[in-house]
Amino acid sequence: MQVIGGVRRDGSGPDLVDVVNPATSAVVEQYPGAVAADVEAAVSAAKAAYGPWSRATPGERAAALFAWADLLETRAEQLAQRETLQTGKPIRLATGFDVPGSIDNVRFFAGAARQLAGQATGEYSADHTSSIRREPIGVVGSIAPWNYPLQMAMWKILPAIAAGNTIVLKPAENTPLTSVDIAVAATEAGVPDGVINVVSGVGAVAGEALMAHPDVRMVSFTGSTAVGRRVMEVAAGGPKRVHLELGGKAPFVVFDDADLEAAVHGAVAGSLINTGQDCTAATRAYVQRPLYDAFVEGVCELMAAVRLGDPMDPDTDLGPLISRRQQERVAGFVARAQAAGGRVRVGGGMPGGALAAGAYFEPTVITDADRRSEIVCDEVFGPVLVVLPVDSDDEAIAEANDSPYGLAASAWTTSHLRAQRAMREIQAGCVWVNDHIPIISEMPHGGFKSSGFGKDMSTYSFEEYTQVKHVMTDITGVAHKGWHRTIFTLP
Ligand code: NAD
Repeated sequence: MQVIGGVRRDGSGPDLVDVVNPATSAVVEQYPGAVAADVEAAVSAAKAAYGPWSRATPGERAAALFAWADLLETRAEQLAQRETLQTGKPIRLATGFDVPGSIDNVRFFAGAARQLAGQATGEYSADHTSSIRREPIGVVGSIAPWNYPLQMAMWKILPAIAAGNTIVLKPAENTPLTSVDIAVAATEAGVPDGVINVVSGVGAVAGEALMAHPDVRMVSFTGSTAVGRRVMEVAAGGPKRVHLELGGKAPFVVFDDADLEAAVHGAVAGSLINTGQDCTAATRAYVQRPLYDAFVEGVCELMAAVRLGDPMDPDTDLGPLISRRQQERVAGFVARAQAAGGRVRVGGGMPGGALAAGAYFEPTVITDADRRSEIVCDEVFGPVLVVLPVDSDDEAIAEANDSPYGLAASAWTTSHLRAQRAMREIQAGCVWVNDHIPIISEMPHGGFKSSGFGKDMSTYSFEEYTQVKHVMTDITGVAHKGWHRTIFTLP
């Protein structure tokens, strides 16, 4: 489950790590986890590849990426199935979103790397010409989560290597399959050995070794805020550059002039995507009172119609959560919300029958929760939407912003002025108007506040994965430069 220097091999850890199909709880793969020695080998392969790859022209790098995208396209179906196998996400989502989105990302970065931007070369001082170079950083260590293993791997790998860095990626230990698949495909497509390395293993061992390695010049992390803090601590020892994409608790603000049907559909799709295990998923709906009852009713009705089932079946709408542990975690949140006075309006439990073997949880709507309660404030990462009434625009926006997180949000209104206000005042890295969830390769993704800093996707991500060098060249040709008089005077 490792790809080091273009070669697929086993990790050298003593413990086997399980890859489990969350729909059945069956172990589908077991592999020896990576340990420090594997990380050492991967970093050293990435270091060896860095010189030639960083000196390759952007056009040469683009050609390798386009060839990689073409090869991945021929394996799209297999990639989707492997992604569904390890995550339990419905095959419709893997086929329609994860895989094509990832391949589009490869093609976007193949082109974008040829257009790195900087300030114009010029004579900003009368005696010098100044120019800007945008250079790669070196070996990047990246750590990814389990919710979108393929897309998260791509979001980490692409801006890094397109800009001339080399990378060692550590996928989440329970979802390494597609990260390994794409790294193998990259080698086959002609991406030089060592440019993309994958070490699969547990965070506390492989992740820690990767972050701390002295030859890793930057750590790029997507995952929980708790581990993000740990990443910053370890990186401080370098110090090394850090890019963090962390948790979220996205508000969904419905003004009283909203298109109710659009808002209801948007809330159900936006909260259930990836079984709610999406850092931008709609989690807290603030609905102005005139629409509140109809909104709750509409969302409950639509959620009750969502079909849970075998994620490999194209008719399935909603798959299981990632694991039994996550299922218990979500059930715990819902039980505590109820104990604290929240009303479960639909769902709220684990389905029985044929689904009892998997980590399924019913789509759930909760109302009457206390504003400051855990279910409203903390990241559940499950198919749970809390709906709360609000009385004014001011209150809606204040509640939306009353969170340590700031990854994404949406505003639902037919008023141009209200939309403008929401865009301006909601504190989040992405604000949708009359939609919730869509992303696109050309536009950045990244958080405000405790949701992290730095951007994935888009040309903005080059800010993270490149460093700017100022080159200042004397254009006078004289030995005695005017400014020397500030230091010494000659007769
Ligand atoms: P997690 O933080 O538990 O794990 C993420 C990764 O970190 C895994 O690869 C894990 O092995 C590794 N890790 C764990 N402990 C480590 C340590 N001590 N040192 C180094 N690495 C370590 O998160 P998760 O449960 O896999 O993912 C869910 C979280 O990710 C949610 O909070 C979600 O919001 C967040 N997320 C954020 C984004 C975003 O773009 N902002 C995208 C996806 C997921």
